Amino acid sequence: MRGGRPKGGPALGRAYVLRRQDLTPELMRLWLQAPPGFSFRAGQHCTLVLEKRLERPFFIASAPWELPVLELVARLFPDGAFSRRLWRLEEGDTVSLRWQAHGPLTFDRRYRFQVMVATSVGVAPFISVLRDRLQSPSTGHRFWLLHVGRGEELAYGPELQALASRLPGLLDYSFVPTARSPEAARRAGSLMLRGVRRWLDSLCLDPRLTIVYLSGRRCLLEGVARDLEDRGWRFKYEFLD
Ligand SMILES: Cc1cc2nc3c(=O)[nH]c(=O)nc-3n(C[C@H](O)[C@H](O)[C@H](O)COP(=O)(O)OP(=O)(O)OC[C@H]3O[C@@H](n4cnc5c(N)ncnc54)[C@H](O)[C@@H]3O)c2cc1C
Repeated sequence: MRGGRPKGGPALGRAYVLRRQDLTPELMRLWLQAPPGFSFRAGQHCTLVLEKRLERPFFIASAPWELPVLELVARLFPDGAFSRRLWRLEEGDTVSLRWQAHGPLTFDRRYRFQVMVATSVGVAPFISVLRDRLQSPSTGHRFWLLHVGRGEELAYGPELQALASRLPGLLDYSFVPTARSPEAARRAGSLMLRGVRRWLDSLCLDPRLTIVYLSGRRCLLEGVARDLEDRGWRFKYEFLD
């Protein structure tokens, strides 16, 4: 979708911080007011620009119909140049935004079975897609979302549970908390691979009618992507790091 940069206007749009919610000292939800004309497709990411042209991509958790409100979920990296500055934003502040949104995790209507696997804040694009798809009459698609994350990332849990129970048979949502031991962290990639494979197999889906979307940390999902490829599943992915 084309961004709405005004002809001859500035290269960057200006967004306003409408609200922030600190879920923990290192995780926040941020609601921006996007500039008029900004557009995106559910599942894409936008690019925020802070001082000195420091810029980073962020998934959009809100649906396009919620514009001009743009909802993001951000994690703080104590040594991270961008997120440390992002954390200083307060309601009423401004932040620059690139006009174009990007990303492959948009809804592919050709597949009846839509399987989403997210780690941590990688759940955001799927929130956007589900808010977008599940507020209009059913098109015959079915959705499964597996979110592997830390407990605080359950911020979207109640909304997803409510959607799943309002639309039984259309959305199946599972949250798996990550184990915190050093041993689990070391084996996280292989645990993820085995867990996703077992979960996907348990759904008994026809691969010809199914697309799998992966979003999150590379170290957790790269092996899953390779496995899906080897086993002939159609998939799309976007990594955070
Ligand atoms: C397509 C895309 C979408 C993204 N969407 C989001 C989003 O919705 N919310 C969000 O908080 N971040 C998101 N990121 C990450 C974000 O763009 C920045 O990388 C992050 O804010 C850290 O930037 P920094 O300058 O503070 O730290 P940096 O110094 O740039 O990064 C610090 C380290 O953290 C790694 N890293 C980045 N993100 C993560 C993560 N989530 N978990 C673990 N390690 C990570 C980086 O690779 C690097 O090693 C996204 C990245 C991409 C590529």
